[in-house]
Amino acid sequence: MPEIFIYDNNCQLRKHLNATHDDYFARTGLPVDVFHFKAKHKTSDMECQRHCNPAAFPDLIDGDKWRVNSSICEETNAWFGGFMAIVREMEATRYTFFLDEMIKRRNRFTVKQLEKRGFHPWRIPIDVLFRS
Ligand SMILES: [Zn+2]
Repeated sequence: MPEIFIYDNNCQLRKHLNATHDDYFARTGLPVDVFHFKAKHKTSDMECQRHCNPAAFPDLIDGDKWRVNSSICEETNAWFGGFMAIVREMEATRYTFFLDEMIKRRNRFTVKQLEKRGFHPWRIPIDVLFRS
């Protein structure tokens, strides 16, 4: 299980887990993504504020900046949605292969676009991502 699972509607997920006494995410933090938290979640909802406020997760913040760009996650999710009609009927291996290829192509395109605009994109070494 991931340590943190960011989701637009985690406060409803948390309420459901609590109501059903489900401990599947017991060791996973469930913050709401920053955009949705600011725009769609009430400050008067104390359960939401207590369990799902992204600012309450120190791992998500570095100084005064977010370490995770959850807006990019949202954009990527919307991009994935564009393949729904294509992948809907695919079996798992083909589905995984297809999306893996699309992701690689998109990443190559994004890197080239960033370099053209004068940025210097870089890769995070895999051992840094999966430290134990
Ligand atoms: Zn909420």
